[in-house]
Amino acid sequence: MKAWVIDKIYDLKKESHPLKLVELPKPVPREGELLIKVSACGVCHTEIDEIEGRTPPPVYPVVPGHQVVGIVEQTLGNKTSIKQGDRVGIAWIYSACGTCGYCLSGRENLCTGFKATGRDVNGGYAEYMVIPEPFAYPLPDLFTDVEAAPLLCAGAIGYRSVTLCGMSEGKCIGLTGFGASAHLVLKQICYQYPKSKVYVFARNQKEREFALALGAHWAGDTSDKPPGLMDCIIDTTPVWGPVLRALECLKPGGRLVINAIRKESIDQEYLFNLDYVRHLWMEKEIKSVANITSRDVKTFLRLAAEMPFKPEVEIYPFKNANQAIMDIKQRKIKGAKVLVF
Ligand SMILES: [Zn+2]
Ligand SMILES: [Zn+2]
Repeated sequence: MKAWVIDKIYDLKKESHPLKLVELPKPVPREGELLIKVSACGVCHTEIDEIEGRTPPPVYPVVPGHQVVGIVEQTLGNKTSIKQGDRVGIAWIYSACGTCGYCLSGRENLCTGFKATGRDVNGGYAEYMVIPEPFAYPLPDLFTDVEAAPLLCAGAIGYRSVTLCGMSEGKCIGLTGFGASAHLVLKQICYQYPKSKVYVFARNQKEREFALALGAHWAGDTSDKPPGLMDCIIDTTPVWGPVLRALECLKPGGRLVINAIRKESIDQEYLFNLDYVRHLWMEKEIKSVANITSRDVKTFLRLAAEMPFKPEVEIYPFKNANQAIMDIKQRKIKGAKVLVF
């Protein structure tokens, strides 16, 4: 089968074709696994973190991609109702041990045995992949394959971020950065909390216009003054400057949720400007979002179908995977990018 692989760490300022197209044997499912014929796979900023070595794959080469939509071609000793020919989605959580305290308390995202799709095991930038059955999710019919793909990471992790914010109706929420995940969060908030105000901070004028068109109450540059302080802010930027700025914009008791698997180090010196009174005093909190649970994905898919909300997608043919990666790196973002086969 054809597959794109990450074969080592690259500096994307110097390399514009980091993924290599290779021929791999078609994977063979083991007991309890499904063989999936992939039809679409979302492209995520996490692929860039893997390629640039901030969250490197433990073994090379690896097939990236963790927002996978495909058809079950083979089942092996399956225990659920999923059968051959069903359409399923696969997310960042490939597996967890299932027996530790975290797994038993519904926090399998924190399990030390957590395996990530497309980093720790082969993912969906390929014609086929295998997945343990409990981590494959039947998809609501109303979404096409390309619409469903971004729901599986950008959407589901955005949902987890909103949950970690302690969001409720009427609270004012900020979004720092306006990529694939934030635009889905904005749609979710407008639906679930119609009386809440959403302020969006984005560097790029096009992103700000996009945010306003989707229902944000205010959109400005990171350095602009918002109309008021916020109860919670979700940061989806890869850098540090917006983190300090966000802390400054929180109400007393407010919470900043950082939804980024890793931060880049280019502007880390910003943190020397951390001022206790301005940024942290008055019980302000910072919390990171780590991975995702299977329950997050299932709950979010149900919510997305109920709304129903369709992500804005930009489609790339399978052969243009490197182009999609470089477009994210260069922040050419309008909605979520999806590879199709
Ligand atoms: Zn992702
Ligand atoms: Zn566990």
